Amino acid sequence: MNSTAPKTIRYSVIAPVYNEIEGLQEFYRVLHDVMEGLGEAWEVLLVDDGSTDGTRDLILTLADQDARVVPLIFTRNFGHQIAVTAGMDHARGEAVIIIDADLQDPPQVIPELIEKWKEGYEVVYAVRREREGETWFKRTSASAFYRLINRITDINIPLDTGDFRLLDREVLQVLNGMRERERFLRGMSAWVGFNQIGIPYDRKSRYAGKSKYPFKKMLKLALNAVTGFSTLPLQLAEYTGFAVLAGWLVYAIVWIVFAALKKPFLTGQALTIFIILLLGGLILTFMGIIGEYISRIYDEAKGRPLYILRNTPKTYKSKEKK
Ligand code: UDP
Ligand code: MG
Repeated sequence: MNSTAPKTIRYSVIAPVYNEIEGLQEFYRVLHDVMEGLGEAWEVLLVDDGSTDGTRDLILTLADQDARVVPLIFTRNFGHQIAVTAGMDHARGEAVIIIDADLQDPPQVIPELIEKWKEGYEVVYAVRREREGETWFKRTSASAFYRLINRITDINIPLDTGDFRLLDREVLQVLNGMRERERFLRGMSAWVGFNQIGIPYDRKSRYAGKSKYPFKKMLKLALNAVTGFSTLPLQLAEYTGFAVLAGWLVYAIVWIVFAALKKPFLTGQALTIFIILLLGGLILTFMGIIGEYISRIYDEAKGRPLYILRNTPKTYKSKEKK
């Protein structure tokens, strides 16, 4: 056999990285040991999502030391879901593993994901059994959120599942063809079908640093999940409209009956103000909901790229060295 021929890569690990200077080296070390233990060719795509704390340089240094590290450097912060997407676009492996870079998803679980893949499953997602070191608020809001999504969308997104998962190349290709910009990857990967299975794992606390997912970003992800997979909010306007009309009908009948009996019926400014506020509130709420969908259509219509890389990884590296 020709030893200089490039080996086909069996596993690609994708890790989105945003300001993880304190923990990234340790993540790489742990991941490296786990992947080497598998005895097959692998690569890790470290996607720098516009870090400002020196993470980018560390990624480039790791790539210089280890050819299996593929650096993908964003020109600014595009967000976690987009960073994972960039990794998916550039992954070369037969199976792709998406994992957080903060060691909350333990790399030690990867061999278990791979085992299921070898049994023939094309999507193997890791289900959070325990969540260490996360606040009560984060745990309950996340759990309520997943339950809500499953109720109102047409797809079944497995409960308590994040993006930590393995995707077969075939699934990856389908997902890579779905270029929607408001992305909810765990929903998209449930939507595509294929043979899927979940395996339980204990989600650890962060190795270092703080969460880069403040409440605002979580809310945006939740909104993308809803608008991306359900039109129920739009239909709510109709249902509420019907309910208000039904109320109006009852009111009209009672009013006619009272008029026939020549008795006075609910009058006065307080009632008028109450009704105006109620209807005004409902109308504005539903205009807002319609606005959410329209703004997404507008974003799609612009057709901008999902992310911008600082050159291709190779040329970027060689420029750095000069
Ligand atoms: N991340 C990213 N871009 C962002 C926010 C986060 O690439 O805008 C990365 C982050 O470095 C980590 C992963 O996405 O590897 C998960 O983020 P984080 O741990 O902050 O989220 P949490 O676990 O608190 O939900
Ligand atoms: Mg985390």
